[in-house]
Amino acid sequence: DNFFDVLIIGAGPIGLACGIEAQKAGYTHIILEKGCLVNSLYNYPVNMTFFSSSERLEIGDTPFVTTLPKPKRAEALEYYRRINGKFNLNTHLFEEVLTVRKEAELLYIQSSKAQYIAKSVIVATGFYDIPMMLNIPGEELPKVSHYYQDPHYYANQHVLVVGASNSSVDAALETYRKGAKVTLVVRGKEISPRVKYWVKPDIENRIAFQEIDVFYNSCLTAISDDSVTLETPEGAVTLKNDFVLALTGYQPNFKFLKSIGVHVPDEAPKIPEHDPQTMETNISGLYLAGVVCGGLNTHLWFIENSRVHAETIIQHVKSRGI
Ligand code: FAD
Repeated sequence: DNFFDVLIIGAGPIGLACGIEAQKAGYTHIILEKGCLVNSLYNYPVNMTFFSSSERLEIGDTPFVTTLPKPKRAEALEYYRRINGKFNLNTHLFEEVLTVRKEAELLYIQSSKAQYIAKSVIVATGFYDIPMMLNIPGEELPKVSHYYQDPHYYANQHVLVVGASNSSVDAALETYRKGAKVTLVVRGKEISPRVKYWVKPDIENRIAFQEIDVFYNSCLTAISDDSVTLETPEGAVTLKNDFVLALTGYQPNFKFLKSIGVHVPDEAPKIPEHDPQTMETNISGLYLAGVVCGGLNTHLWFIENSRVHAETIIQHVKSRGI
């Protein structure tokens, strides 16, 4: 009973889509998830609105009904939980995959709780577990976070937000509206053009009205208990500071991928080796699905264009005749 046709690592939207496709094809499956169901989405900012409209987040041909075109995090959690139930997926939560080893034609999987054997393994582990570090003094202080959740926490505090893309802009606007004194530090010369089109004018106006301070062409160089130091075109600037939200992006767990034998180039964008036609890696029977496929290019894949990986992979599993 620890033997499965298809073992899926990660119960994100794409891992669930893989479970549905495996089931449709008549294969036995198991999904192992180290956190809660759709763990990455659970850890998003609590008030987050997706940039995708709801039908683009659908899996298993099941409508995702929302009253507004773009769903909120809470609605997505409801949707994917109902999907997991509707398809009766064999999802094991809070069970981390530690190793995968290929021997003869089979894959041997060791999790934090059990051992499994599978004919095919799909790695759908996303990129939200490992933040891009700034590698500056003070980054280890408890007031520094690479994840942002609830704005209330920052009321009446001096908050420095690092970055100029969606996560940073959402955090700056929300904390400003809960009474934080917000400064944004941006490496480039402007707010990222990728910022959600309905949010961009809001942040630009808050900056124009000097409600949120901004330093462009600047970077954070040091953090102390009660201040931060920025390198700006006008020289070093020190600001009073209570909290730092360093929302500078995330990366796939390359160490895990390498440890299970997937080739990962040393140079950026470090796209883990796989055949885009089949999603199979350099190890036969071991596949990649979802946003993990992009390596450091975390803007390449999202739910809308990677949910198809599930079908592609299961088609290939069928063609291998197992
Ligand atoms: P994930 O959802 O990240 O799922 C991977 C899962 O694998 C996680 O649950 C993780 O806990 C688990 N896992 C990792 N390692 C292991 C292990 N060793 N063992 C067991 N389990 C493991 N995309 C969109 O399409 N539209 C959007 O609007 C959108 N908004 C976003 C907003 C934010 C703030 C962020 C960070 C991302 C957003 N994305 C959006 C991208 C989005 O994260 C992905 O599209 C989506 O989560 C990808 O699904 P996935 O299943 O590939 O990966």
